[in-house]
Amino acid sequence: MSALPSAAARDADDNDAHPAARAQRQRQCLRLLAGVLASYGIDTALLLAFAHFGAVEAVVAWVYAGAGVASCGMFALLLRRPFTERLSDPFLVVPQMIVHSAIALAVVLWAPGVGVPLLMMLLIVHAFGAMRVSPLHVLGTSVLIAAGVAAVIVGGHLHVELPMANTGQRVVSALWFALVLARSTLLDLYGAQLRDVLVQRNASLQARFKKMHRRATRDGLTGTLSRRSVMELLEQQHRRLELTGQSFAILLLDIDHFKQVNDRFGHPIGDEVLRAFARRAMAEMRASDRLGRYGGEEFLAVLTATEDASAAHLAAERVRDGVFRHPWGRLHPDLRVTVSVGVAVCRPDESVDALLARADAALYAAKGAGRDCVRMG
Ligand code: GH3
Ligand code: MG
Ligand code: MG
Repeated sequence: MSALPSAAARDADDNDAHPAARAQRQRQCLRLLAGVLASYGIDTALLLAFAHFGAVEAVVAWVYAGAGVASCGMFALLLRRPFTERLSDPFLVVPQMIVHSAIALAVVLWAPGVGVPLLMMLLIVHAFGAMRVSPLHVLGTSVLIAAGVAAVIVGGHLHVELPMANTGQRVVSALWFALVLARSTLLDLYGAQLRDVLVQRNASLQARFKKMHRRATRDGLTGTLSRRSVMELLEQQHRRLELTGQSFAILLLDIDHFKQVNDRFGHPIGDEVLRAFARRAMAEMRASDRLGRYGGEEFLAVLTATEDASAAHLAAERVRDGVFRHPWGRLHPDLRVTVSVGVAVCRPDESVDALLARADAALYAAKGAGRDCVRMG
């Protein structure tokens, strides 16, 4: 019973009809059934030991073993059928719990002299299933098993016993308890291992999702928002303006003579300048403002809740000055980098395209005015 397939692997199987996934599922099913059969083997050996010490007829042990083999065989055949893959309980754990409980209860009815050890088995059957099925199914099967036990104990008018008539029977009873405890411990350990695997998979899935999300929304070189993301943000701010009347400003920032940076210092230094520029510009902006890479060496900043032209100008001037004062000499002693900025505060009823065109015209004016300066659109 310690060979239960992991929930994560099962989920992967459910969604994947690939032959390799199907073969893996078959192997998991076989391991699961092998575990159940091994458990029947242990009980059969103990029942034979009880028979040896006169607690029960040996035929009970053999019928019990036969029922175990037959039920496992039946489930092995059923689990090979493709329809089970699409079930919410693809390993048929609930039917297996019901069948194995019914076998144990039938033997209790037939041979109440070994009834208590067999009733202990129901706890194992239940613990085995509880790891794999939904809480509702666990509750349902618990009620069913409890009702079955009550019917047998109360309705059956039986003398359900733990065999203790002689030392041999006492030893086998103690051994039975010890082996029930061992299986229960194994199941607990397996459950803990399952949880660990799930926690790990969850963490790695989250990390992968974060990485993918970052890749999808960020510019690979500078770590600023991608052009698409910053444009989405712009559209979002624009809708907000239409709904609430709260305006915002944008800055178009273009690094001056960047082509010369590449030509003089090489492309790798050019890339490093882009990264350092992005870091510096973000450091000069408020936490609520966003910077995205608009084109090669051109960036677009969205200043949220900024309705005042002088406030937007001040923000742009802070970035320009920060870039001017940045210690570029650390990258190369002769390197100097400046930026020109076009600023526009979105007007009521102005479209995003018109706003961008105004900021672009302002940037053009800043370039025309000698660069390393800010112009309002
Ligand atoms: P201006 O002051 O008028 O803006 O001049 P400029 O040289 O900055 O503008 P221009 O548009 O002529 O050149 C931009 C350069 O930016 C050309 C292009 O090779 C370079 N560039 C664009 N993307 C990258 C990049 O990812 N890495 C590097 N190293 N260079 C890039
Ligand atoms: Mg440029
Ligand atoms: Mg440019």
